[in-house]
Order: sequence, then structure tokens, then C-alpha cells
Amino acid sequence: MLIFKYLTQETLNVTIRLMLKDMFYGLCDLVYPPNCLICKKFLPRHESDTFRNFTIVKPTEVLCLSCLNKIDYNRPPFCPKCSRHLGKNFEHPRCQDCSTSNPHFDFAWAACLYHDPLRHLIHKFKYHQKTLLSPLFSKLIISFIREYNLDIEQFDIITPIPLFPSRLRERGYNQSQLLAQTIAQTFNINLSLNNLIRVQNTKNQTLLSKKERWTNIHKAFRIKNLKQFSEKSILLIDDLLTTGATASEAARTIKSAGVKTVGVLTLAIA
Ligand SMILES: [Zn+2]
Ligand SMILES: [Zn+2]
Repeated sequence: MLIFKYLTQETLNVTIRLMLKDMFYGLCDLVYPPNCLICKKFLPRHESDTFRNFTIVKPTEVLCLSCLNKIDYNRPPFCPKCSRHLGKNFEHPRCQDCSTSNPHFDFAWAACLYHDPLRHLIHKFKYHQKTLLSPLFSKLIISFIREYNLDIEQFDIITPIPLFPSRLRERGYNQSQLLAQTIAQTFNINLSLNNLIRVQNTKNQTLLSKKERWTNIHKAFRIKNLKQFSEKSILLIDDLLTTGATASEAARTIKSAGVKTVGVLTLAIA
């Protein structure tokens, strides 16, 4: 404390502020170590923005630029039904999956491809409490919508694919809801969190074959209030579209409420 005697009031204020700031960052680093989630490289903080706005984790602060650049974006030509990249087969009207299964949603948009490092990050997001990935994932989805000028404004309501209550309790959050909240807020669309509900505690789809996924998810959802969705266009949000079975079953359930359109928007497509 003796050193403070020789400091002016102004310098003292700055010193105290810097000390407080260091303590604040120290605490932040304990909660969210600022290392890239993939390569573990230390990530320098952007001090002023972070401190002033109290935005502890900014999108780029979970991944280094080099790992961020390794994420594969979904690109045209798209399957008109599920947006799966058609590659060299784009003379076919739909991808192979949509030709054989014909899902109940009207169309789906997926921002990225389910390749590493994104596959690894989605796994952390869902099963390892890494909710700090939500701003980055939302940003990837929002930039995809903007890049392809997708008409998201046609939707009246955004709703996440719900989890079964016991799974939600176990996990503590619904990863699709975290994405849905930011997307609804960004595009100023109503968010519905409790009308589409999960009534069956289905087996984890990732453990099942393509065919089993369709039977496993059958009748897994219910609408509480049909009137709330009636005559509306609904956008379903999920983290991942694989066979499309989950989104299709949710869309089939929603369509029983007499809706106009059911679209699906996901972070990635496998
Ligand atoms: Zn990295
Ligand atoms: Zn398709």
C-alpha cells in the first residue's frame, strides 16, 4: 500500500482499474480458459470489447482462426428438399435420401457440413456442456441465411426440436433451443418453446441404423395447442440433419395443426 502514497489520484484509479480488470479476466479464464477448443492454442482476448460489454466469450474466442477456417460450409448445388450438397449428381432433382424417404417438412436449410472440426465441436456442444459454442454456431447459421438470401421472414414462428423432459434435466439445456433463441432474436421472429413437446423418450438416433431411426422417432412429438400453430409458417431448428427422420416426424406432427409451411434450419447436415 506504501507505493500508492507516491501516485496521483488519477494514476491510482487507473492502477486499481487495471488490477480489477486482471482479477476479472483471471476469473473468466478459470471458468472459460481462452484456448482453442480444437488445437488448444492460447487465444488472446480482445480486451476492450470483452470488458466493456461483458461479453466473456465472443464467437472467435472459442476457436483460433486456423481451426475456424477448417469448418466446411454447405455450398450449392443444393438438394431442393434438404439442401444436401448434390456434388456431381445435380442433374437428379433430389438427393438420394430425399428420393427414397420423402420427409414431411417442406424444405430444410443446413449451414455447414458435418465434418471435423465441426463434428467434434457439435459433440462437445451436446454432450459436454460446451454451451459457449452457441454464439459461434448461431453466427454460422445466420451468415448462411444472409449469404444465400434465404427467405426466413416467411416464417411466423421459430421452434426448436424439443428434448424429452428427463433428457433435458440431465443435460441442463436444449442445444437446439440455444440456437433458436439467437436466430429468432436476430430476425425478429416469434419463438415458441413449449408448444411442440417430446412425449417419448426415444433411443439416441446416433446409435441406430438409417431404417431404425424412422421407426424409433415415430409418434415422439405432440402439439399442446393446435390453434397456436394453425395457419402459421413454422421453422424448426435443430443442430444436425442426418437422415432427416427427427425433423420429418416433428414436421408431420406440426402439420396436424393445419400449418402453412414447415421449414427446417440446422447448423450441419451429415
Ligand atoms: Zn485452433
Ligand atoms: Zn435431399
